[in-house]
Amino acid sequence: RALPQVAEVLLSGPTKTSVRTHEGLQVDLRVLEPARWGTALQYFTGSQAHNIHLRALALERGLSLSEYALKREDGTEVLCATEEEVYAALGLPLIPPELREDRGEIEAALEGRLPDLIELEDLRGDLHFHTTWSDGHQSLLEMAQAAQARGLEYALVADHSYSLGVARGLTTERLREQRAEIEEVNRRMGSTFRLLAGVEVEVRADGTLDFPDEVLAELDLVVAAVHSGLRQGREQVTARMLAAIRNPHVDIIAHPTGRLIGEREGADLDMEAIFRAAAETGAVLEIIAHPRRLDLCDVHVRRAIELGVKLAIGSDAHDVNGFGVLPFGVATARRGWATTEDVINTWNVRRLLKWVAR
Ligand SMILES: [Zn+2]
Ligand SMILES: [Zn+2]
Repeated sequence: RALPQVAEVLLSGPTKTSVRTHEGLQVDLRVLEPARWGTALQYFTGSQAHNIHLRALALERGLSLSEYALKREDGTEVLCATEEEVYAALGLPLIPPELREDRGEIEAALEGRLPDLIELEDLRGDLHFHTTWSDGHQSLLEMAQAAQARGLEYALVADHSYSLGVARGLTTERLREQRAEIEEVNRRMGSTFRLLAGVEVEVRADGTLDFPDEVLAELDLVVAAVHSGLRQGREQVTARMLAAIRNPHVDIIAHPTGRLIGEREGADLDMEAIFRAAAETGAVLEIIAHPRRLDLCDVHVRRAIELGVKLAIGSDAHDVNGFGVLPFGVATARRGWATTEDVINTWNVRRLLKWVAR
């Protein structure tokens, strides 16, 4: 109650206290012996579905699992100070928290085929950001320096193309002028960082792109995006997306569904058709990292990987702080079982460019 954040104490006792903050969040405080920390952390991490499955597995092994301990049939307890010990007592390796959804992770753990999940440190580059050449707030040089300060080795310039009028999109002429400045920045940055020349090209209402093939062919990588007509019928909006995926100059499809969490549903796309086309052509699907977007979402990431689709994590940074959202993209990739082999911006720039040029 003495804490300034606390609005109300809901419950208070020697081992359990619950409060509500001024923002309306409920916070539960539990006090327990260090020797029981593993079972408690595992229990409260969830998910419920994962824990139900885990308890059933424990019963098969003659153990009952609770937040306090594993209990043998004779009533004696197995205390677990860490989560590793909980899983080990059930004959399992530690299952990363992001996978605990009862979507096959327990079976995979039993069979020794849990994925080696991507980590934030694995990201070598960002594949989507904006500058003052369209609707970004900082210059190419400032953005390059900010990306390098985040530990990145490369970043793909993806300013908007002209038919997205609100964002002062690039014409062919200005795209070529920007290319000269990108080369100038790369000279200044030296050999430890590289800006890649790209664009976030509009997929128009009829499925064609803002630039002809010969202009797109001049770029290192091309990101294509649908920003308008997201409410078109399923067949029409899916056909637009498929046309972009099948364009041989398109490398990455940005924020595929266009959802805004809590505000706007994604387009009514036939995702299965999109994943199959992307797997066939090698088009990469983006996980946009902004916490309001996370698009592809975790469930889509998982399915895309199952079908052999490659992924790119993009910040869509519009200012130097915008690269800070990348951890949310990595978290979404992890929830979708992604490894470094699945996410092309964990690769070094040489491998990346070789792969897109194939
Ligand atoms: Zn976009
Ligand atoms: Zn963008």
